Amino acid sequence: MPHNGSKPPDTDQIKELLKKNKRSMQLLLSACAGCTLCAESCFLFMSKGKDPKYMPSYKVLNSLGTLYRKKGKITPEQLEEMKNLLWKNCQLCERCYCPMGIDIPKMLAFARRILRSQGIDGIYDVSLGESDEGSE
Ligand code: SF4
Ligand code: SF4
Repeated sequence: MPHNGSKPPDTDQIKELLKKNKRSMQLLLSACAGCTLCAESCFLFMSKGKDPKYMPSYKVLNSLGTLYRKKGKITPEQLEEMKNLLWKNCQLCERCYCPMGIDIPKMLAFARRILRSQGIDGIYDVSLGESDEGSE
């Protein structure tokens, strides 16, 4: 699907999707202690000079976290930033680990799903695999 980031985001549609997993996702988001222990389990973080923008918690909090915080009211520019975080900065390899039991890949996959609902899809020249089809 072509990238469609210039179209105004459909807030109602985003809100509907956010509602589906609101309880579990907000619980996970609020459980994040910001300890950054998940960082070194991400090979991209390690291979990009430990750039914070590749940290698993950063990617979750600045995509799904922002979507919930703003109740779906986001700008095309914010969606574009999320696209980079969710595809360019993450391959959804599911290898990141949170000692608090937060399922980071599940949250990243859900954020991708929301972006796809807005016609925004992956950056396939740097993303090697997709494993979130049909997941929450
Ligand atoms: S996701 Fe887990 S490991 Fe990463 S910062 Fe949050 S609590 Fe710490
Ligand atoms: S799923 Fe994303 S954040 Fe987690 S280890 Fe893989 S590339 Fe890093």
